[in-house]
Amino acid sequence: QNNCFWNARGPDRPGGRVEMIRVFLGIGTNLGDRERNLQDALAILSQKMVILKESSIYQTAPWGYLDQPAFLNQVIEAQTDLSPLNLLGFLKDTEKVLGRQANFRYGPRLIDLDILFYGNRIIQTPRLQIPHPRIAQRAFVLVPLAEIAPDFVHPQTKQTIAQLLAALPDLGEVQKCG
Ligand code: ADP
Ligand code: MG
Repeated sequence: QNNCFWNARGPDRPGGRVEMIRVFLGIGTNLGDRERNLQDALAILSQKMVILKESSIYQTAPWGYLDQPAFLNQVIEAQTDLSPLNLLGFLKDTEKVLGRQANFRYGPRLIDLDILFYGNRIIQTPRLQIPHPRIAQRAFVLVPLAEIAPDFVHPQTKQTIAQLLAALPDLGEVQKCG
C-alpha cells in the first residue's frame, strides 16, 4: 500500500506528519434548490480541504428508487490531510448541516457526499469502503469523474476511469447542465 509517509500516529494527530492525500468526492442532490445545495456543499468542504478540480454539473435520472426528482451530480478532486474516517465524519457532518434527513436508502436527499477514492488506499470496513463500491456501475459518477480524471487508475480493478466508463453497458440519462 502506498502509505509509506504515514507514521504510527496517523496523518492528522498532533505530532503526526501531515501528508496531503488526493481524494475524489461525489456530490448528489435531488431536493430543494439543487444548485444551491451543490454550492453550499463546496463552500463547506473547502473549509477543510483544497479543492483542485470540479467537474461540470450533470443532471441524472433517479437510480434505485425511481419515483423521485432528478439528481444533480458533481465530482470534485481535492487535497486533504484528514484521515479516511475523519473525512467520512466531516462529510456526514456536512450532510447534516445542509439538512439531510435520515431517509431510506437510495431515496431522495438534500445532499449525498461520498468518498469515491482516497489516494490509492483500499479500505474495507463495515463503516467505510474505499474505493466506493458502486463506482463502476454508476454513470452519474463515472461521467463527471471521466471529465476531470480520465487517467486515474482504480486501485482495485486497475482500470482507468475512461476504461470503466467505456465498459458501462448503459450511460443512463446523465446530461451535462448549462
Ligand atoms: P450511497 O452513498 O451508496 O448513495 P448512502 O449515502 O445511503 O448510499 O450511504 C450509506 C452509508 O455508507 C453512509 O452512511 C456511510 O456510513 C457508508 N459509507 C461506506 N463507505 C462510504 C464511502 N466511501 N463514502 C461515503 N459513505 C460511505
Ligand atoms: Mg452516500
